[in-house]
Amino acid sequence: MSIIEFKNVHKWYDDFHVLKGINEKVDKGEVLVVCGPSGSGKSTLIRCVNRLEDYQKGTITFEGRDLHDKNVDVNELRTEIGIVFQQFNLYPHLTVLKNITLAPTKVRKMPQGEANDIALALLERVGLADQAHKYPAELSGGQQQRVAIARALAMRPKVMLFDEPTSALDPEMIGEVLNVMKDLARDGMTMVCVTHEMGFAREVADRVLFMDGGEVIEQGEPLTFFANPTHERTRAFLREIL
Ligand code: ADP
Ligand code: MG
Repeated sequence: MSIIEFKNVHKWYDDFHVLKGINEKVDKGEVLVVCGPSGSGKSTLIRCVNRLEDYQKGTITFEGRDLHDKNVDVNELRTEIGIVFQQFNLYPHLTVLKNITLAPTKVRKMPQGEANDIALALLERVGLADQAHKYPAELSGGQQQRVAIARALAMRPKVMLFDEPTSALDPEMIGEVLNVMKDLARDGMTMVCVTHEMGFAREVADRVLFMDGGEVIEQGEPLTFFANPTHERTRAFLREIL
């Protein structure tokens, strides 16, 4: 069963045609990796799913609901679709614990005690149980990104979107973030991950999708995708990043 579906989705930034007819489905529990050159529309594509960007033509549905349906509440939608950005975007003036409990207590009206329990369990899961009372600036980039993942998970989302979550990290911190993502993937989370970490893709992706110039050029299971890319543009891209 698809949880997200794109039907002929087009988007323009003014007169720049950035998404040119996207038709894609993401199944429940699927781990989809999206790759492609810079500027190909990857961020725009996933940002449309939780309405950080709007699109002008076509439909996107989440659990069968058209995102443009007037009954779809964007704030509600964003609680169900977590997103993790390249630049962790933690609140600098709040402790790690407060960063994680803010949305559950404010948006979900969860009692602080219960939110704290959930946050501490999530911090344990991402390997940061002892960092709850620190401020973001006191953490490494890899630790901050793991907090950002825990913060998104605190809302119990049905889907997690990742936009190049390891691109801003020093190389020695990439693994710790990917490990958290692999753990999530194995746990059955539906994930759309924009990343160029092809080791991650080989290990946990169900499907890899290659975008260029606002279009999906090709896609497939990782084994086939990496062994036999059919399009020259995909081959050129893989040659460059592998
Ligand atoms: P990717 O994530 O694959 O690098 P993006 O989705 O960020 O690509 O961007 C695709 C194209 O759209 C790029 O050419 C970029 O410059 C342009 N673009 C992105 N955001 C905006 C914006 N807010 N306004 C105008 N153009 C944008
Ligand atoms: Mg991007």
